[in-house]
Amino acid sequence: MNQTFKTPAIFQYSSEALILKGRLEAEGIKVFLRDNVTIDTDPLVSNAIGGVKLDILAIQEKEALEILKTIKHNTLSDSEEFVSCPICDGEDITMFSIITSVKSLLKFIFEVAFKSRHFYTKHKYRCQNCLYEFDLKQ
Ligand SMILES: [Zn+2]
Repeated sequence: MNQTFKTPAIFQYSSEALILKGRLEAEGIKVFLRDNVTIDTDPLVSNAIGGVKLDILAIQEKEALEILKTIKHNTLSDSEEFVSCPICDGEDITMFSIITSVKSLLKFIFEVAFKSRHFYTKHKYRCQNCLYEFDLKQ
């Protein structure tokens, strides 16, 4: 039996993830949220740990992606404003962590330890329309 998981969506706050969780579950998709409790406890760690992950069973991925595609979702910036793409002005933006290696993790820990302003830029945004990846200027 295939019990691997896929993470088709990541959210900054669990409120956004819960909305999509309910929508997917209504269609018979099993949904597991990761790190939502941690982020609910301290929303400031959301960027650091890469947001609330919405996991689904790999065997339901195709079905889940079809449903997600029909739902327009907006990502909120740290200041809770809607994020839109600087290139095509698209509003279907997802956030992803840029901590992708041991090296970047160590750099991140170093910056946190020294209270660098970079603490708040450990994720980037990706436009789902044109796939442009960008930072938000603070
Ligand atoms: Zn775009």
